[in-house]
Amino acid sequence: MTRTRIWHPFTQHGLDEPIPNIVRTQGAHLWTDGGDRLIDAISSWWVTTHGHAHPRIADAIAEAAGQCDQIIFAGHTHPYAEAVAEGLAALFPSALAHIFFSDSGSTSVEVALKMALGYWASRDEARHRILVLEHSYHGDTIGAMSVGARGVFNAAYAPLLFDVETLPFPGGDTAQATLDALEAACRAKPAALIVEPLVLGAGGMLIYAPSVLAEMHTICARHGVLFIADEVMTGWGRTGTLTACEQAGVVPDIMCLSKGLTGGSLPLAVTLASAAIYDAHYSTDRAAMFFHSSSYTANPIACAAAAANLAIWREEPVPDRVGDLAARQAGWAARVRGWPGVANVRHLGTLTAFEVADPDRPGYLSTLGPAIKAQCAAAGVLLRPLGNTVYVMPPYCIDADDLGMVYTAIEDAISAGCAAKA
Ligand code: PLP
Repeated sequence: MTRTRIWHPFTQHGLDEPIPNIVRTQGAHLWTDGGDRLIDAISSWWVTTHGHAHPRIADAIAEAAGQCDQIIFAGHTHPYAEAVAEGLAALFPSALAHIFFSDSGSTSVEVALKMALGYWASRDEARHRILVLEHSYHGDTIGAMSVGARGVFNAAYAPLLFDVETLPFPGGDTAQATLDALEAACRAKPAALIVEPLVLGAGGMLIYAPSVLAEMHTICARHGVLFIADEVMTGWGRTGTLTACEQAGVVPDIMCLSKGLTGGSLPLAVTLASAAIYDAHYSTDRAAMFFHSSSYTANPIACAAAAANLAIWREEPVPDRVGDLAARQAGWAARVRGWPGVANVRHLGTLTAFEVADPDRPGYLSTLGPAIKAQCAAAGVLLRPLGNTVYVMPPYCIDADDLGMVYTAIEDAISAGCAAKA
């Protein structure tokens, strides 16, 4: 038994799998202390957008660290947060007029849920039920887990999770069933629907159509049910556009953003809200304020990174880079469709995903994932399949050679039958 002092996330230390020590990151590359180079095919848990250690972001962080490292954000502000607010206002729909900062995707979701319930409480309406999509994932805090799919991730904590109403995943054949279920659920006056727009990430990179997203929004609007778009994974170009909602012409009441908000360099999140949500908490009565904070709310160094990221989006041809990567990923998806033993090949924007047949144990606990991960690591590629779901979601700076190496490593791992199936 090898006990480690550091307890890693989503890691079973009892399996004693190797834990590489990464000492340097640059662009699409990571280097271990042994000097091995890894190509980051998953954007280090979907956060790195433009590339690791982007010079504009790194410079902004250094400047802020020496100028204004941390300030209580209750009742105070600073130029870095103001720059983020201005930058977001320039890029995002004007209807999402208000910005609440927090530290992670999970906290941005907690904030969204509290905003929604606060909205209804301010109107003296007892609406607190949340509608969710089957297979969804919104984070690992108690509220975020409550609105996510129940399963191995959270079975031990089930007694603490609040009840939600789950709509079927709106896949091709089941889209109408989802819309019908939503229509019926809305009649019982729930508080809100929360969705991952177009792609359910941790649930297995499951993709659904913009038309369904648009229709879900229309139904919610018709019934006065708040629409929360969790763009924590899908935001910042991943699906081919700045946000996934854009592809459906949807402006939600509340939008959660994190991960690529700082280009993936520092933890920061925002929950964007409509004027109606903000106004519901606006009063001369202190008891009616929005009761949420964390010590590091809108930390200036993280905000400096986010402001630099927003400047990159404004001033550099990021959509072209996203488009180039999306085209390569589409081409690869077309090739993978011809491979034996893979199913359900799908592609959206900079994401390609598929399942590798695992007759023993498909799903998140499939041992194929770790086996493929190990073989890819040996070939110099960082991959982390979700069970038997393999996906590639690299930073936008990845070049054709590196992407080719990622594809080859995956093909080799799969065609070798994942010999090292753990
Ligand atoms: N929401 C979605 C859609 C996510 O994919 C994730 C994380 O992957 C989260 C929320 C939680 O974000 P974080 O890990 O930063 O708390």
